[in-house]
Amino acid sequence: MTTREKLDALSGNMWWSWSPKARTLFEQLNPLIYAQTDNNPKAALAAADEDVLDDAEFQSDVDSVYDEFQTYMDQEPHFDDAPRTAYFCMEYGLHESMQLYSGGLGVLAGDHTKAASDLGLPFTAVGMFLREGYFHQSFDADGWQQATYKPLNPDHHPVTPVTDENGDRLIIDVHAGEQPIHVRAWKLNLGRTDLYLLDTDFDANPTELRKLTRRLYQGGNQQRIRQEVVLGIAGLRLLRELGIESDVYHANEGHCAFLMLELLRERLEQGELRVEAEQWVRDHCVFTTHTPVPAGHDRFSPDLFAKEMNTFRESLGLSVDELMKYGRVHPGDHSEPFTMTVLGLKMARASNGVSKLNGHVARQQWEGMYPDRELDDVPIGSITNGVHLPTWTCQPARDFLADHLGGDWLDKRHEEDAWHALADLDDEVLWQYRTMLRTRLHDYINTKVRTQSLPMTPELDPDALTIGFARRFATYKRAPLIFSDLERARALFSQADRPVHLIYAGKAHPADDGGKRFIQRIFEISKQDGFEGNVIFLENYDMEIGRMLVSGSDVWLNNPRRPLEASGTSGQKIAAHGGLNLSVLDGWWPEGFDGDTGKGKNGWAIGPQPSGDYGTEDPAVQDREDAASLYEQLENSVIPTFYDRDAYGVPTEWVNMMREVMTGLPAPFSAKRMVIDYVNRMYLPEPVES
Ligand SMILES: *Cc1c(COP(=O)(O)O)cnc(C)c1O
Repeated sequence: MTTREKLDALSGNMWWSWSPKARTLFEQLNPLIYAQTDNNPKAALAAADEDVLDDAEFQSDVDSVYDEFQTYMDQEPHFDDAPRTAYFCMEYGLHESMQLYSGGLGVLAGDHTKAASDLGLPFTAVGMFLREGYFHQSFDADGWQQATYKPLNPDHHPVTPVTDENGDRLIIDVHAGEQPIHVRAWKLNLGRTDLYLLDTDFDANPTELRKLTRRLYQGGNQQRIRQEVVLGIAGLRLLRELGIESDVYHANEGHCAFLMLELLRERLEQGELRVEAEQWVRDHCVFTTHTPVPAGHDRFSPDLFAKEMNTFRESLGLSVDELMKYGRVHPGDHSEPFTMTVLGLKMARASNGVSKLNGHVARQQWEGMYPDRELDDVPIGSITNGVHLPTWTCQPARDFLADHLGGDWLDKRHEEDAWHALADLDDEVLWQYRTMLRTRLHDYINTKVRTQSLPMTPELDPDALTIGFARRFATYKRAPLIFSDLERARALFSQADRPVHLIYAGKAHPADDGGKRFIQRIFEISKQDGFEGNVIFLENYDMEIGRMLVSGSDVWLNNPRRPLEASGTSGQKIAAHGGLNLSVLDGWWPEGFDGDTGKGKNGWAIGPQPSGDYGTEDPAVQDREDAASLYEQLENSVIPTFYDRDAYGVPTEWVNMMREVMTGLPAPFSAKRMVIDYVNRMYLPEPVES
């Protein structure tokens, strides 16, 4: 094969999204085009510099990455007997060049699918071909967020049209009321798994239906229910047309739960009794709920549901009330809306939240569905999220880990023992590692701000404590909490001998003015004395900014209003890079943190231990108490520990904390561990303890 052919093959499989070496090759082909297209390999290859292609050293790099890819594709599967799994999700965060995600749910689904590929599972994923996806963030002169959309060009992505046996585009029909929605699909190669993306944006559909697969989370409830019909019902029909058989169907969050009604329809069509059909569906479906915010669940009024689902309902031969009962907490209440999460919970043999605390909150939230049960017996378990380390660990960190853990560290990353060798590293070695990664982040920030619309003038000191805060700017995440007491905050950032940098990134949903005001406030603060140069907002948070921040930050700050963070995964991404968490004990952190409150051996807690009883706290009191605790930790512990140096300039206690983190957190909070748990506890018909 020629170099170009090998690059062509590599660009055709998003395996490159977790191979930094592969990505570097594409960048070298045309750095300008690569950067302009959000790091898109196919776009760079189409505009490749011939001199680079002819370069002998480059060619040999291509050979070795190509061999690595082949070896990956040919690996033995981890399980001999894994069930064939169909996985459905509204969004997928795979790489910054493909805006099929808005935040944590998408990134989690991407990481789940990638880990399924690593494990060689028989696994097929289904999602939406969101041509405009989520928005690109910029700002006006007042620091007010602006949203623009860059349409995705299929030629520049490893997707191929799905066709029937005659080579014609396969079209699936579903209905919005009486009106047909024509759905076609694209197949995306993601390592050893396939991701099918559903698309209504073509000329067989009128404009309003074409829009269904353009953008994430836009439009009203009518648009939403139609999108969910496409995802759940057309998604399953597509798998049937393709002859892809599954032993288990995993609905990741409520958006896709209509797949369960389509399974029910299939059984009824074959003449099964309704009770038998329901049991069959329940025996073959599992469901994950991520949403502790009551308003975050999709709910459809009886009128809208009856109208939009009419054709489908008739094909089931059920009355409106009979169909509605699958989505009602109280089936007899004719005014109750249809809730997608209720459908998921009712029709799955097993359901889970995404951290232990989130599982508990979900049991509280849905207790009313199970009037005969005690709270602890509500059938919702938990599998704590993890992150796909090959995606989130930067190349310099990979090199460091390979040097100290052995070249096969990625294969063993889900085993805690595999990380223990890091405990023996010298203080200086660990501190150099941290300094190298922080410096790399600073270089990135200095370059990045030059091209952004929001003016920023970083004055970064390579040895200064660098705190990262990046996530969706949903208001419950309280991004500006640290500025609650502006003078106390100013004092933190104004100590000449103990500089502190705080780097922000994040998008507010286009309809969320509260979130936009948070960004605007941070922008205004970033221009004030004491903060200027130290408080930086990086615009257009995406997976590239995410990778940089989680690798370079010394501290990862997370201060959501508990218990609204279902898991949060960004804090898990920092562990292999030796970053420390400073976080409210919400989501995954109560499981990761090894202390009680305040300072532990592996990080810090903001505020008290979880009480187990939620919904009773006064948010204003919570905000005040958490802010006070955050200041206390920073003033008395985080900053002093960072600047408490030995004779060689190394902060020995800090480095000890890094050791705890790097040996203890990456394995249990890896997506590989998570997907193995899903197989053992959810996908296999009889759960096994791993
Ligand atoms: C990891 C990640 C998220 C999710 O992290 P949270 O901690 O849940 O906010 C969201 N967006 C991007 C770009 C990420 O990398």
